[in-house]
Amino acid sequence: PAEPRRSATFETLSLRGVGRTFGKTAALKGLDLEIKRGEFIALLGPSGCGKSTALNCLAGLLPLTSGSIWQDETRIDVLPPERRGFGMVFQNYALFPHMSVRKNVAFGLTMRRLPKAEIARRTEEAIRLVRLEEHAHKLPGQLSGGQQQRVAIARAIVLEPSLVLMDEPLSNLDAKLRLEMRTEIRRLHQSLGLTTVYVTHDQEEALSLADRLVILRAGTVQQIGTPEELHNRPVNQHVADFMGYRNLIRLTAGDRADDGIRVTGDGLDLVGTHLDDLAPGAAVVAAARPEDVRVFDPGTTGVNRFPAIVEVVEYQGRELAVEARTSSGVRWHLRTDHRLAPGDAVVLGVAVERLLVFGDDTVGTPV
Ligand code: ATP
Repeated sequence: PAEPRRSATFETLSLRGVGRTFGKTAALKGLDLEIKRGEFIALLGPSGCGKSTALNCLAGLLPLTSGSIWQDETRIDVLPPERRGFGMVFQNYALFPHMSVRKNVAFGLTMRRLPKAEIARRTEEAIRLVRLEEHAHKLPGQLSGGQQQRVAIARAIVLEPSLVLMDEPLSNLDAKLRLEMRTEIRRLHQSLGLTTVYVTHDQEEALSLADRLVILRAGTVQQIGTPEELHNRPVNQHVADFMGYRNLIRLTAGDRADDGIRVTGDGLDLVGTHLDDLAPGAAVVAAARPEDVRVFDPGTTGVNRFPAIVEVVEYQGRELAVEARTSSGVRWHLRTDHRLAPGDAVVLGVAVERLLVFGDDTVGTPV
């Protein structure tokens, strides 16, 4: 029987307690995630955190060891990959080297034995969408890396998949191409109304592409949220680290202050904002983003104001990326448009609501 023209779509794809172990290694520990039709979800985390495992479980390339996957009311983790109707794009484009771009793109449709005219129409449409009209007759080996990746994308979207899975699709491209293809992927996602799950370890890529991010660490979800939520309210030091909170300072919790919690140590006496329940004396990490560390004139005093000496200054666009050190040796990263130079004495400050305090769950190891 002929395959349906468009893969059965869904309102919600639900991963419920999805787990996968390899021998004694728990690669993924009970992932719960609801993906709405049209969403762009990024799975983000360091190498080995379980991103690819999650994607391969979704794709049907890896059986689950626990949990289930649902497309609305239908359980799909029991289906083989080809019956799920998902499209896949990987970092090594996996194109057929002896076939032209056009043949590569048409391949999946040909396998489905669709009418010739329909195959031709859909193939040309997909090639146009990824802007490869000029190159359709060429072999993959005659194309740049970025163009090859476009072929891989065309080959996935030509099948009109209900879900597109991408595993680090840009990691083999140089910096400039990565940026171009990033825009391209977002454009295709929007214009085709795709639902996309995208695996990356690149925080910037994930933030610029995704509607929601899933932050993984050692097989466990740390936080799921919009870029804004993750930026402003990371739930722990690991998410903060990933979200660009470059200042992660180990301190000790003190008493509650009016609008936050007092944290001290290393010559610092600060007030921060906390979500965790922290007893006085608890080991904590105070986290701030470089752009939230402000520069004040020497002599300025007040809550969360402390003197430091500028050590390193680096131009980054219109701003300076600065490293400064307190007399007790705590190094702070900041971004500023003040014209600072190494050796300058400054006072630094962080607003109470922009200094986030977390219970330190890595006591004994580097933050
Ligand atoms: P990377 O960014 O390096 O690809 P990842 O976040 O995608 O990493 P996974 O590939 O999902 O991580 O791996 C998660 C864990 O499971 C790792 O500890 C890995 O060594 C282990 N693992 C993955 N695949 C296998 C396998 N086929 N056999 C044994 N262990 C595996």
